Amino acid sequence: MAMAAKAAAIQQQGHKVLNLTLGEPDFETPEHLKEAARRAIRDGKTRYTPASGIPELREAICEKFRRENDLEYQPAEVMVAVGAKQILYNICMAICDPGDEVLVPIPVWQTFVEQVKLAEGKPVLVELGSDHRVRRADLDPHITARTRAIFLNSPNNPTGVVMDPDEVRAVAELAVERGIYLIGDETYEHFLYGDARHVIPAALDEEVKRWTIEVNTVSKTYAMTGWRVGYAAGPAEVISAMAALMGQSTTQTASVSQWTAVEALTGPQDCVQEMVGEFSKRREYFINGLHRIGVECAWPEGAFYAYPSLPAGESSSLDFSDRLLTEAHIATVPGADFYGEGNLRLSYATSMDVLSEALERLERYLG
Ligand code: PLP
Repeated sequence: MAMAAKAAAIQQQGHKVLNLTLGEPDFETPEHLKEAARRAIRDGKTRYTPASGIPELREAICEKFRRENDLEYQPAEVMVAVGAKQILYNICMAICDPGDEVLVPIPVWQTFVEQVKLAEGKPVLVELGSDHRVRRADLDPHITARTRAIFLNSPNNPTGVVMDPDEVRAVAELAVERGIYLIGDETYEHFLYGDARHVIPAALDEEVKRWTIEVNTVSKTYAMTGWRVGYAAGPAEVISAMAALMGQSTTQTASVSQWTAVEALTGPQDCVQEMVGEFSKRREYFINGLHRIGVECAWPEGAFYAYPSLPAGESSSLDFSDRLLTEAHIATVPGADFYGEGNLRLSYATSMDVLSEALERLERYLG
């Protein structure tokens, strides 16, 4: 937020700031989805809905899991909320008593940590190796009698790492052995590149499914960030506790958004492939460009972020990100914002023109 304010101030002085901070697709919501929203309004679908979502959407979510993940859920095992963000909040509130511990592998999207705190739980930050991959051996030593859950986010924000099936299985076995929940945030499920293959933990087997709460959203997949529709699938007792909380807090997410999400999940899916294809080209261009100018950066396997290392001699991501903004007018997110250090997050959910100019400016700045 501080960076955004600073970027706006620099812009106001007449400079062009290149924004590589975007955490959302730069595409418009596809036309057939906007039309579904207009139709819902015309048909008067504008009243309160059940707290856990309209039956049509819950059925569409079950169908999505069947079609894409080969996974069987009943409508009582799924619910809808105001984005994945509220889903995650409801999960923390439903499963954490004060002092309960939740393991959070870092670097990580900050919200996981803050929501555990909101539920009076204790986030336990688990440092990963330099390849940012989640290994069971890193988690094991942090499990205590108070551990309630482990957060997984693959493809990962900010690192772009996609867990391979063996890694997911190893963590799932730990969860089952110790009777703790796995919270699988699959927000970037469709944003996969190269040979990356995404496996959701609940699809491994019935026992793992019993301990997994799957989190997903239409925000990124369908360029619908502002519509605020996220969903969860998991054990019925957890879902019903989450829905009870929902009923007394926000009641539901907007009815028109829910009807639009029905169309997103059940209608044509070409828009997703088109968008991912475009991101794939930008990724190729941008990461190759970073390598060409001597920036060390692993190839992101998923999501739409590059997570390069700081140049030699730089130790504070906050400081370097701040100087990049002030001196080169490039806005980035420091790794420190993800409880990491030594990296920056650069979003390539922006136009080729911006990426190309950012590479030029970076080269000049680093040179
Ligand atoms: N989960 C992760 C890992 C994210 O990066 C984000 C948004 O940046 C979200 C969830 C939020 O999704 P939603 O828009 O559905 O609240």
